[in-house]
Amino acid sequence: MENFSDVIVVGGGPCGSFSALNLSKKGFNVTVFEEHDEIGVPCHCAGHVSINGLKNLGLYPLPKGIVENTFVGAKFYSPNGTVFTVRLAKPITCVINRTLFDKYVAELAQKFGAHYSLGTRVKSPVFAGRLVKGVVIRRYDKSSEFFGRITLDAEGISAGLLKQVLLTPPKSDKIVKGAQVEVENVKDLETDIVEVILGRNYAPGFYAWLIPKNEMESKVGLATKTGNPRILLQRLISKHPAVSVKLRTAKIIRESYHPITLGGPIPKAYTNGFLAVGDAASQVKPTTGGGIILGLNCARIAADVAAEALDKNDFSAEFLGMYQRRFMKMFGFDMKIMLKIKETLDGFSDKKLDNIIGLCEKIRLNEVFKNLKEVDFQGRTLLKLAQNPKALTLLAFLFLNYLLGKP
Ligand SMILES: Cc1cc2nc3c(=O)[nH]c(=O)nc-3n(C[C@H](O)[C@H](O)[C@H](O)COP(=O)(O)OP(=O)(O)OC[C@H]3O[C@@H](n4cnc5c(N)ncnc54)[C@H](O)[C@@H]3O)c2cc1C
Repeated sequence: MENFSDVIVVGGGPCGSFSALNLSKKGFNVTVFEEHDEIGVPCHCAGHVSINGLKNLGLYPLPKGIVENTFVGAKFYSPNGTVFTVRLAKPITCVINRTLFDKYVAELAQKFGAHYSLGTRVKSPVFAGRLVKGVVIRRYDKSSEFFGRITLDAEGISAGLLKQVLLTPPKSDKIVKGAQVEVENVKDLETDIVEVILGRNYAPGFYAWLIPKNEMESKVGLATKTGNPRILLQRLISKHPAVSVKLRTAKIIRESYHPITLGGPIPKAYTNGFLAVGDAASQVKPTTGGGIILGLNCARIAADVAAEALDKNDFSAEFLGMYQRRFMKMFGFDMKIMLKIKETLDGFSDKKLDNIIGLCEKIRLNEVFKNLKEVDFQGRTLLKLAQNPKALTLLAFLFLNYLLGKP
């Protein structure tokens, strides 16, 4: 293997591979380093994404087998078991098999010429003065240097490289611990909706989910700010009044544990010769923990900016700062709103969540969502929804509760 390419990509997850795909398409020479021997393995993600989000990225429809199911809505369980269901006219989200999805994006990148080096861990950056000009890699217990004109860091939440180039990693106090199992032999699933379970008993500081793959199989998971996610997940499966009934005879076929970053994008995702994308840059929705669509959008922007830098031969932080400005222009407003919603929800007691879900049901808020199309850019969606008097009632209620402080 030569030890130089125009672009180095650290991490063969969706964001790394999508950056690699976009840069290879433009004719640049790209090398992706992935520490695991197989792309997409191990998988730690539920893979619930918006169909529109994938379409806008040119990734939908996907090849057969990657989309496991599609959904027309969601059912919310409040802590005391009050249920609020939203059903739309047609599917707007889907669940993907993340292993197959990651492999697919990586294969596309390779088709356009990207080179993948699997089983290769990037250990540290190589500097020329203040410029990142390459990385130290470790493969088969051997370390060596590999050089590039620009490095894209898509290493996920671990952010080890990010710290070494002196960028601020995702805020640790905003990271929740995720746990998920895939189960078979599940009973009474409503296959066209996802279920969201709220409450401190099961998912303090976040929520739990049940995402059906088909009539018999489902992904069940949660993330939590405090406590042991494994124990909380066992409790959800065995004790939650609705979930435990469905999972009475279920058999766990896969389990995974991984953190989710909810603090919003890091303040600076670039430095000389270096851009960070995806979870490494905390480009994740603080409300839902969804990072695939935002991360892929940022990966595309990073590829555009990297291509311009390569054309102009300018890898200075001043020039690469355009990356942050572009992605903040795309979702900065939505991010502000999502962070506010998250902060507000975090302050609510279980009792207040019961009241809110009860109110949603009472005023039939589901009617407001009937024509909902956009779930990724939640600030804009909220502005649109707020034009409806029912949504306004709920917003006023939330605002009042927020003003009146924590219960
Ligand atoms: C439990 C859970 C459920 C989730 N559910 C959803 C969901 O339903 N929908 C959604 O949109 N998002 C979800 N997410 C978030 C989503 O998984 C991430 O936002 C997404 O995977 C980010 O992609 P990425 O490419 O930035 O990072 P990753 O997918 O983490 O990929 C990073 C890659 O880099 C590799 N790597 C790391 N360090 C190195 C190194 N030093 N050298 C070489 N390779 C390295 C890793 O092996 C990995 O392959 C969930 C996350 C969790 C934990």
